[in-house]
Amino acid sequence: MRVTSVLSLASAAAASTASFSAPAGTASPNVSAGCQALRAPLGDSLFFKSSSVYKYEAANFWSNTELMAPGCVFRPQSSAQLANGIKALVGAGAEFAVRGGGHMGIRGSNNINDGVLIVMSNLTTLELNTDRSLLSVGPSHRWADVYTYLQGFGLSAAGGRLGPVGVPGLLLAGGVNFYGNQVGFGCDTVVNYEVVLADGSIVEANKTSNPDLFWALKGGSSNFGIVTRFDLETIKSPKVWAGTHTVSAEYIDQFLAAAATYASDIYDPKTHVVPALVPGETTLASVILFYDSDNTSYPEIFKPFTDIPAISSTLDFKTVSEFTTETGTMVIDGINDVFVAGTVKGTTYKELMEGITIINQTFFNELPKLYSQVPTANISTIQLDWQPIGADWMKASEARGGNALGLDSSQVYLCYAEVVEWIGSAYDDIVAEWLENTTYKINNATQKAGLYDAFNYMGDAAGFQSIFPGYGAKNHQKLIDVAQKYDPHAVFQTLMPGGFKVY
Ligand SMILES: Cc1cc2nc3c(=O)[nH]c(=O)nc-3n(C[C@H](O)[C@H](O)[C@H](O)COP(=O)(O)OP(=O)(O)OC[C@H]3O[C@@H](n4cnc5c(N)ncnc54)[C@H](O)[C@@H]3O)c2cc1C
Repeated sequence: MRVTSVLSLASAAAASTASFSAPAGTASPNVSAGCQALRAPLGDSLFFKSSSVYKYEAANFWSNTELMAPGCVFRPQSSAQLANGIKALVGAGAEFAVRGGGHMGIRGSNNINDGVLIVMSNLTTLELNTDRSLLSVGPSHRWADVYTYLQGFGLSAAGGRLGPVGVPGLLLAGGVNFYGNQVGFGCDTVVNYEVVLADGSIVEANKTSNPDLFWALKGGSSNFGIVTRFDLETIKSPKVWAGTHTVSAEYIDQFLAAAATYASDIYDPKTHVVPALVPGETTLASVILFYDSDNTSYPEIFKPFTDIPAISSTLDFKTVSEFTTETGTMVIDGINDVFVAGTVKGTTYKELMEGITIINQTFFNELPKLYSQVPTANISTIQLDWQPIGADWMKASEARGGNALGLDSSQVYLCYAEVVEWIGSAYDDIVAEWLENTTYKINNATQKAGLYDAFNYMGDAAGFQSIFPGYGAKNHQKLIDVAQKYDPHAVFQTLMPGGFKVY
């Protein structure tokens, strides 16, 4: 794992402030080698610090923790232009970063100081094939764009559950989605990728053409090339019954039991749930409930949750576009955020309940240490949530050819995510250190109980975490082999320092 830890990246950033300013479209003498290399062949797509495009793109990240000072922004207008740019950067031995929707909240994962920031904003393909079974999506898009486009056709897709999240990073990480029990991960629904490789060639990866690359892109992230188009299955889903059901602190035990009950027997594949605890002055328990139906409400399987009286509920029939606009209001831009991932696994209610309880108790026992260092007025959100992934989900993945994530369909996985969002960069190191320590304690406790699994979902992972060993040794080695085959000089491991590396 080569992502620098949040702590060390924060101090590296403090030590390194790229400061030069050049008129728009021109390079100053101290511009990085990459910006120089792109200037002659691709100057019309290259933007320097004083241009409005640079200012917009350099600020277009979800979390303040991601903001850095690239030497220039390269905004290719086509795959071919991106391919020429990659050739020029490799020729110059110059460092670059790639940003899609900018939601990987890890400093340096999608941005860079001094080097070239490549942004996907002009790769805007969004079209259905003639029978509307497949959607081609360019990496500029957020899931809100996809759902808005598809809802006019009564269709949906296996993508992000919050509208603002980016398409490329999510599909390359895996893609936890509302339809998981029907179709598997979002990446399982991708039938073809268009990819710019390190040598500047543009290839298609699908079941018959470059099938090893096709498999590796399903969870292997940015280790093999830059994806310029995803062709993915559409899902007939004109409306869904969905919303957030929130209950008060007195029901937390019952709420957690409901989560374990659901996870231990996910007998209805039209369902998806995201149970979460939200500490604050009083702790709230809130669950996203999703049912893929335009005519059935309150399905039996949700009873353990919906029997608990709600203090607020948004459950109703709506399109996925409407629902992800609703959930998208939870995304606050321009603050500081960290996610941390972890997993427990089991097969019975007892094991899954024990896993949930250990994670919950350890997290809440540690919270006073955070509150003692960060004023409550500066903490905008703390959340602990659990994502159940059961047999139907993994079997749907397998039926589509499988992915690199290495999950075993005889188990139920509960992937937990710790989320802290705060105001004020002065607290960055404190929050990062608290989360690292808390995660260590949680994983220690789940290990002792025999419930720990090494899988950390990349989409929710922090920079200090390891991803690919959690896919299993065999899958990890296969990912390394594919990376070495398609990128023998390890361009995506060396010249692109950001992101989770297979080696
Ligand atoms: C508020 C919020 C909600 C979320 N909800 C979900 C959810 O419902 N389900 C889920 O699975 N995950 C979810 N996530 C996690 C999400 O999947 C990751 O943050 C993901 O990285 C977002 O994709 P992006 O394009 O915005 O990321 P970026 O930060 O732009 O990119 C992530 C990584 O992918 C690389 N990359 C980007 N584009 C390309 C490309 N075209 N080719 C090669 N590499 C590329 C980048 O260099 C970077 O390393 C959520 C995250 C947030 C912040």
